Amino acid sequence: MNTAPEPGIVDEFPLSFAQQRLWFLEQLEDTGAAYHVRLPLRLTGPLDVGRLQQALDALAARHEILRTSIVVRDGQPAQRIAPTVRVPLEQLDAESAASSIRELAGKLVARPFDLGRAPLLRASLVREGPESHVLLLVMHHVIADAWSSGVLFRDLAALYEGRDLPALELQYADYALWQREWLAGPALDAQLDWWRRHLDGAPELITLPLDRPRPVRQTFRGSRIARALPPQLATRLRGLAARAQVSQFMLLLAAFKVLLMRFGAGTDIVVGTPVAGRRRTELEQQVGLYANTLALRTDLSGEPDFMALLGRVRSTVLQAFDHQDLPFEKLVEALRPVRSLAHSPVFQVMFIQQNTPWEAAPMRELRVEPAELAPTGSTKFDLTVSASEYLGEYWLAFEYNTDLFEATTIDRLAATFEQLLALLAERPDKPVSRLPLLPAAERQRLLHDWNATAREPGAGDHLLAQFERRLAQAPAAIAVECAGERWSCEAVDQRARALASALHAAGTHPGDVVGVLLARGPAMVSTLLAIAHCRAAWLPLDPELPPARLHWMIEDSGARILVSDCALDDPLVPAGITVIGPQAGEAGTQASAGPVNPRDPAYLIYTSGSTGRPKGVRVAHGALANFLAAMRERPGFAAGERLLAVTTLSFDIALLELLLPMVAGGTAVIAVRDDIRDPRRLAALIDTAAIDVLQATPSAWRALLASGWQGRASLRMFCGGEALAPDLAAVLLPSGAALWNLYGPTETTIWSTVSRVTDARRPVTVGRPIANTRCYVLDAHGGLVPVGVVGELWIGGSGVALGYAGREDLTAERFVADPYAEEPGARMYRTGDRARWRSDGELELLGRVDDQVKLR
Ligand code: AMP
Ligand code: MG
Repeated sequence: MNTAPEPGIVDEFPLSFAQQRLWFLEQLEDTGAAYHVRLPLRLTGPLDVGRLQQALDALAARHEILRTSIVVRDGQPAQRIAPTVRVPLEQLDAESAASSIRELAGKLVARPFDLGRAPLLRASLVREGPESHVLLLVMHHVIADAWSSGVLFRDLAALYEGRDLPALELQYADYALWQREWLAGPALDAQLDWWRRHLDGAPELITLPLDRPRPVRQTFRGSRIARALPPQLATRLRGLAARAQVSQFMLLLAAFKVLLMRFGAGTDIVVGTPVAGRRRTELEQQVGLYANTLALRTDLSGEPDFMALLGRVRSTVLQAFDHQDLPFEKLVEALRPVRSLAHSPVFQVMFIQQNTPWEAAPMRELRVEPAELAPTGSTKFDLTVSASEYLGEYWLAFEYNTDLFEATTIDRLAATFEQLLALLAERPDKPVSRLPLLPAAERQRLLHDWNATAREPGAGDHLLAQFERRLAQAPAAIAVECAGERWSCEAVDQRARALASALHAAGTHPGDVVGVLLARGPAMVSTLLAIAHCRAAWLPLDPELPPARLHWMIEDSGARILVSDCALDDPLVPAGITVIGPQAGEAGTQASAGPVNPRDPAYLIYTSGSTGRPKGVRVAHGALANFLAAMRERPGFAAGERLLAVTTLSFDIALLELLLPMVAGGTAVIAVRDDIRDPRRLAALIDTAAIDVLQATPSAWRALLASGWQGRASLRMFCGGEALAPDLAAVLLPSGAALWNLYGPTETTIWSTVSRVTDARRPVTVGRPIANTRCYVLDAHGGLVPVGVVGELWIGGSGVALGYAGREDLTAERFVADPYAEEPGARMYRTGDRARWRSDGELELLGRVDDQVKLR
């Protein structure tokens, strides 16, 4: 092939492996301009267009690959080399173009290639003025890599100047043939063995904080941002690299992996990087696709500091470079990864140390500089970070897939990378997982802006005070209804006070626990108030629970007195317990336990908990009062509204149903057992009782829908207790006036976050913290994780419970000092829920931390 083929004779050769994969990819996907190699040159001075055209044609005569197109023979692609090809110089006028030259150049780069037609090189000349031009050369990646653009420039300059170029000793087709032979031999196995071991068991897909669900087929739409590092930081990084005896590439790659880990990628991270692949001097003068990709895997586990990590990365990089001849395509073929069309195989994130492929040098009287291009809107990978030095400055460019990420996320990633580099340079001896990497602005947002929930009155308020305010306003208003029975506020108050005096007389003291074992009815409400009057804590008990479970709870709680309307010989009541009926006590009598303190426990409630025996959560009056006040604000409860109470008292959300209407000026309509058990009866009751608000778990809503419930236009629907699935949200949304998703553990008082669901096509969130509540998404070390990154949800603020009764160990483990709060003594609760902040300040829940552990 060193002699030019005779005119009319066409040569065909197999493709190299890299070419073959690219060709297949281009057949399958719309990759846009992701695989267009560009060389934008700004030419200042007198330009000889005729000479330029000749130089372009001479380029194509010199490099066979510039005369190559891809043809298909028996379904297999081959490269065909045409004996001659012209490279037409397209001439454009910047003034007649509507867009700026930068935009225009971007558009020219993006124009598609037909791989079946040579040349796969395009030349456009944009004229800005008589002595000012931009020459844009664009090649398809199937014939050229980044290095090639440097060769192209040097050869073009020589040809334009009329200098002689030494003849090429070989052409790309020689390389493609050589590669096939080489890979048929024993060299392949040795390389493949190393790569197999290197990548064995590596994660197939990196976890990153995506803003949008990953499309089922990978897309190639992209954008890019670039930032220069502060000069002092670049200097410090150079110093650190020298001290650690690593290259700048190794240092930045290691830092980038730390960034990925801190953005949720775990500790086993594979990042791709390109290598020039021109390991023989003859190859350095070639245009062609020689570049290869190396998948560099690093283990970041075991809490390494940056120095230790640099050692790991250095050894990986050196070994990988020793095995760099194996084409990445061959590796993919051999590894047979679970091939998904949704992402690129082996790695989805790329790190590039850009070496300028060409150095600006004049062409005759022309000054030549790189020209700027507008982004082409394409990208090959989920995320590609390139580091480069330009005019003495250190630049980092972040190119990202716009179907996965929003620009703000990448801005934050870039800002965080800079912050991280500074921390690593300062403290290379600190475990990289513990560096406080969030930029101040993001910290401010996470800790303060999105937790700006502080409200008055908050402190000092309690249930009885809230009820008394309602009572004073409307004593005759109906507070509770059940099966035709209607109790005014005044009636509830009198019954509560009377029962309080009976409880008092029976020996109830402040701080005691009083069991509540009642059939569903208005007395549930007056009983809770009565116990509050005694400054005792109620222990809700559900008569439907097995007796053994009830006995255990009563015993564990230390309750000596039970308010119950069950028959006295009922096996539900253990021996030795004083039972008082909810109607006990004389009207007009008054207990004298003294005023309620917001720190007094209001109730003790047992949660089954995912593991171990049930634990009793002690919740203070202040927390309950704050909860009720917060609910009046969001989701809101208007005077006169009617809420249908359907939840057993032994589930804390029943307190919203029984108490919120009462303190907010509405009516709690208590559904009886038979209504609750039969969804059709319940559905009818919603209409006949003219219900405005219904709270239920997702499963209860599903049961209601399954029974044929058609919805009620004016109904406000509260949903919580389990994840609200998008399909359920989609059905519920049109079934009523509003849908709310409520979230919270018992340990932080009923509900802690609230979200109004308005669009079932968007991911369902649990919204934002309620009044006087703060949410933190933390990593395993208690550090804030960046927006979008999954961590564990911790909740602080007024709702945090007092702790687990009689379980100091467990209390100390789950309830800890809140390091992010300003007020002294503040605590926060560890929920065990996996969560992440969305960039709009809403929280998304992603299952349980313990499930995750089990999965592993
Ligand atoms: P409990 O303490 O029994 O009320 O259970 C609280 C747990 O239920 C939370 O920690 C969550 O795991 C789950 N949960 C409650 N509400 C929601 C919700 N709206 N979405 C998802 N999970 C929820
Ligand atoms: Mg709960």
